[in-house]
Amino acid sequence: MINSVKLSAGFRRSFIREVLLPLMAILLLTFAGAGTALFLGTTLTNQEAKAQQQRMIEASFSQSLAEHQRQLLSMSRWAPLASHLTTSPSDRRWLNDNVGRWLYEMFGHQLIMVLDETGLPMQVWREGQPLTAPAEDPTVQAVLASALLRGQSQQEEADYARVEGRAAALAIGDVTREATRLKLVSLKFLDDGYLAGLAERSQLKGLHFSDLSAVADTPARFLLTSRQGEEVGYINWDPMRPGAQMLRAIAPSTGIAVLIVMLLCLYMLRRLWTSSRDLSQSMIRLGASEAQAMHLAFHDVLTGLPNRALVEERLTQALALATRHEQRVALLLIDLDRFKNINDTYGHHAGDELIIAVAHRLSTLLRPSDTVGRIGGDEFIVVMPEVENIGQVQALAQRILDALSQPYALSGGEVWSGASIGLVLAPKDGLDRQELVRKADIALYEAKSSGRGKYRQFERVMDESIRTRQNIAADLRVALQDYRGLAVWYQPLMDIEGKNMVGVEALLRWNHPTRGAVPPADFIAIAEETGLIIPLGEWVLREACAIQQRFPALMVAVNVSPVQFRATGFVTRMVEIVRESGGDPQHIELEITEGVLIEDEHEARAIIIALREAGFRIALDDFGTGYSSLNYLSTFPVDKIKIDRSFTQSLGVAENSVAIIESVVKLGHAMGLTVTAEGVETPGQMSALADAGCNQLQGYLFSQALPFERLGDWMR
Ligand code: C2E
Ligand code: CA
Ligand code: CA
Repeated sequence: MINSVKLSAGFRRSFIREVLLPLMAILLLTFAGAGTALFLGTTLTNQEAKAQQQRMIEASFSQSLAEHQRQLLSMSRWAPLASHLTTSPSDRRWLNDNVGRWLYEMFGHQLIMVLDETGLPMQVWREGQPLTAPAEDPTVQAVLASALLRGQSQQEEADYARVEGRAAALAIGDVTREATRLKLVSLKFLDDGYLAGLAERSQLKGLHFSDLSAVADTPARFLLTSRQGEEVGYINWDPMRPGAQMLRAIAPSTGIAVLIVMLLCLYMLRRLWTSSRDLSQSMIRLGASEAQAMHLAFHDVLTGLPNRALVEERLTQALALATRHEQRVALLLIDLDRFKNINDTYGHHAGDELIIAVAHRLSTLLRPSDTVGRIGGDEFIVVMPEVENIGQVQALAQRILDALSQPYALSGGEVWSGASIGLVLAPKDGLDRQELVRKADIALYEAKSSGRGKYRQFERVMDESIRTRQNIAADLRVALQDYRGLAVWYQPLMDIEGKNMVGVEALLRWNHPTRGAVPPADFIAIAEETGLIIPLGEWVLREACAIQQRFPALMVAVNVSPVQFRATGFVTRMVEIVRESGGDPQHIELEITEGVLIEDEHEARAIIIALREAGFRIALDDFGTGYSSLNYLSTFPVDKIKIDRSFTQSLGVAENSVAIIESVVKLGHAMGLTVTAEGVETPGQMSALADAGCNQLQGYLFSQALPFERLGDWMR
């Protein structure tokens, strides 16, 4: 909905701007251009036609003038005329019939005059009738006064003239009588009748005459002038307009064409509108799914928190800002305690719920400028820019620890977790992102190994110890290639009198190329973390088997790391190695620790049973250091328990130490187990242990671990 609203506003505006307006402009220009062309064409055609019509009218005027003259001349040159120009009544009759009436009736000559040599009227007919006193007639006088007759030449001529304020056509012809020259003059008024004939000839409509003073009342007129230049009047007519006619003819089809074009444009617009709207909608959708994909790419699906990539980007930005503005940035690496445990006990669903709850608690603790992200199964990271002082960061770390240690109400029930935090501060601990994360990781490791539920701030020494560990791991890996520097030494196990050796414990020794002898306490843990303990332990077993094969009666104890114990195929590997190296499993004692029994009880029990079926003997090492009850441990089918040297060494120091050892011995014996005491250093300890009922003793009192060859010397 929001999208469509956004679409219609922005989209409509851009559609109008980019499609509608240009299209309308194009249409407008096209129509305007076509209209102008049509208008110009029409006007030009009309003008041209009008000019041509005027030429035609002028031509017909001069034609009818010429005709007028021809009619007169045919009379004036007619020979009988001169002989009849007398005043006799018969001649007068003749003249009346053959001149006055004839010319009027035949050709419409309205006034006919015969002038004598002096120019005075001898005979005059108006409209066919003779005038009795022509000299007094105003029309006659007007004609006589006209320019044509007053002119010097008085040639046989025809012309237009104004007579009594009216326009008229005059024609003059000579009549020769004996030696005298008379004149025959004829007049035709340019009246409607005259013009009708003209109009008929020139095919023009509305032809009429108007006076000089008249205002133009017709669309077309021209000024008729006599040859002498006298203005006679206006000839008006209704001009034919072929342009307008053409326009009228093409108007309907043009209109339809315009309509069709407009409709087509409208249709096109509609199509364009819908298709581009669809396009822009799908582009919005595309954008949305792109945004979604971007979100997915930069956020953790489970919690919706930024993922590692995004946090790293934010950290980079914060660091860049910090360098520019001399600010500090804190980085907190948070790891949940007991997460694996909860996951295993309550299931993955509960684990997910816990993670979501943790994400929620973390989010509520932070400022808006802080970023919290999830970067691993149970690992979170906080980027805190613009740190004013370290106290602020420490307070946040403590608040996070407090918040995360509150119980969680999951659908499977209430659980407790907790967290450890590693903390670094830029620029003090560096300004490089990877460097900071690495150091935060080290601090986190320290926090976890110093007992969990704590935050630790990175210190230089931590880095050094980590580096040392890394170096040791690397060197150990090198040593494992050809076992150079590695050795297995053996420490005797004595009977309770301390007189006879009843077995040996194989103990790993490493002579480092530069560090010299590295105690197992310093490298076994590293080997376990890196998994190198597996090949190492297998090698010790092979060595032990070799010794055992040389001395078939010898009982050899071999330590098994929990890492080895939990590795898949552990039992098979042990069996394989013993078979390959020719040892007798009956004389190999595998020392395991309490930890492996607690981790996964059923699995551990199954492994122990399988090992025993393969012939191995099993000893429970460091007995008493763990938290499990004796009763619990006694349910595992082992052959021996080795009481930890801390108990031995507490003899004579702690009051109840004897009692503890006694009860362990009693329980062990009740289950048919051998009880060995470790770390026997003094004869006093030896006798106390003997009194408590122990079966075997091991310790510096008898011997440290020695190379096997030197053990021979020792025995002698
Ligand atoms: P552990 O299994 O309890 O081994 C006995 C440790 O006690 C040995 O230390 C031994 O030298 C020491 N010890 C023996 N008698 C005395 C004594 O009278 N007083 C004192 N203070 N200590 C005594 P070491 O050799 O340094 O080994 C330490 C630990 O390293 C071992 O403890 C064992 O957990 C581990 N380890 C040694 N070799 C191996 C091995 O091959 N595989 C595995 N997985 N762990 C080994
Ligand atoms: Ca041991
Ligand atoms: Ca031990």
